[in-house]
Amino acid sequence: MIDKVLIANRGEIALRILRACRELGIKTVAVHSTADNTLKHVLLADETVCIGPPQSKDSYLNMPAIIAAAEVTDAVAIHPGYGFLSENADFAERVEKSGFVFVGPKAETIRLMGDKVSAIRTMKEAGVPCVPGSGEPLGADADVTRKIAKNLGYPVIIKASAGGGGRGMRVVHSEAALLNALNVTRAEALAAFGNDQVYMEKFLERPRHIEFQVVADSHGHVVVLGERDCSLQRRHQKIVEEAPAPGITPKQRQMMTESITAALSKVGYRGAGTLEFLYEDGRFFFIEMNTRIQVEHPVTEMITGIDLVKLQLKIAGGEPLPFKQEDVEFRGHAIECRINAEDPKGFVPSPGPVRLWHPPGGPGIRVDSHLYTGYNVPPYYDSLIAKVIAHGEDRDTAIARMRNALSEMVVEGIKTNAPLHQEIFGHTAFRQGGLDIHYLERRLGLK
Ligand code: ADP
Repeated sequence: MIDKVLIANRGEIALRILRACRELGIKTVAVHSTADNTLKHVLLADETVCIGPPQSKDSYLNMPAIIAAAEVTDAVAIHPGYGFLSENADFAERVEKSGFVFVGPKAETIRLMGDKVSAIRTMKEAGVPCVPGSGEPLGADADVTRKIAKNLGYPVIIKASAGGGGRGMRVVHSEAALLNALNVTRAEALAAFGNDQVYMEKFLERPRHIEFQVVADSHGHVVVLGERDCSLQRRHQKIVEEAPAPGITPKQRQMMTESITAALSKVGYRGAGTLEFLYEDGRFFFIEMNTRIQVEHPVTEMITGIDLVKLQLKIAGGEPLPFKQEDVEFRGHAIECRINAEDPKGFVPSPGPVRLWHPPGGPGIRVDSHLYTGYNVPPYYDSLIAKVIAHGEDRDTAIARMRNALSEMVVEGIKTNAPLHQEIFGHTAFRQGGLDIHYLERRLGLK
């Protein structure tokens, strides 16, 4: 029985986890850096522990400090949220070895999926379609590398096996540029992820990013909760997400559900997770799996009525899934906008004191945010300050509600990317739906 959870994260997701715990009658421990003692969830938590100075490496990535905080507060479980240590297999292992429950999959599953080459191999073996590619890490033999690229056909993309957050990738358009791109990506991967293993994929020119949400319990049940379209991206970072993905048919959804369920049953998956695919010309290609809750989970919650964070906690407590695949129903359409503290044109971060925060409301509007008037956005972390989610009986209604919500929202003192969202929602192409992952950068003139 989990009766106390340590929240090893910050910002909106920490608050989201705290709220889920409260609904379940679970006590909370908020750990925070010295820059974060006025964070909303820190003010609301049952107990708080300061785990270090502002820099993430000294606080939110400081494993011994977090585990020590769990020890002194007698927490039973640790919820890692997203980012930070959420996909760090060593952390999950240390948490469990120290006698706590890690809210997530087993360390070995995180390790298997965290290495993109092994994740792709696993999915391929289970019959999940993957992007044509090297399938294996690239070796030192330049001729072999050239041959792989030639067989795939240019452009290709060199990707770091340990990459994440849209970093560690390089598109190559010709053989002349291949080896240099390979070496640079290798060096970058080593510097950023401590691992220089890279692999190659065919670079798809006009794909959409479509991902499937899964939940699995520790009793062997796997359920797929439909898909999300996250194609609106800047620098491989998602900006707008929606569910369901426009144009995906029930038949395609069912085919993917069956394929994913079989694959995850085979690996003995546990917890919430997401399989990411590129979708082009009616076909899905697996690119990676995230073994954690995702930023965009609310759109799935809105159309399924399932609280994914509460479910994560129940699964961690050993409970079986309370529903079967055939019980899952999708209602209407949901869209999420990521509101970042940044300049809407230059995208430069804009931390500082929030002089006024007025969140939007009305039918179908949900706001996940840790902001409050007087809060000071620190400069040390990710710039996400709010997620505005609009749900409606159909996509047009969700869009209309989102446009209302964005026009009502007031953030004074810092700059946000809300004007960018306003602009996107005015585009005819967006209203039609089904845009590819390069649309936004093309449209913004960044490409
Ligand atoms: P990360 O773990 O850094 O998020 P992903 O493998 O999920 O990396 O890729 C992130 C984004 O990069 C994708 O959503 C897509 O926009 C782009 N991308 C990745 N692989 C390819 C590819 N083979 N072809 C075209 N775009 C790609």
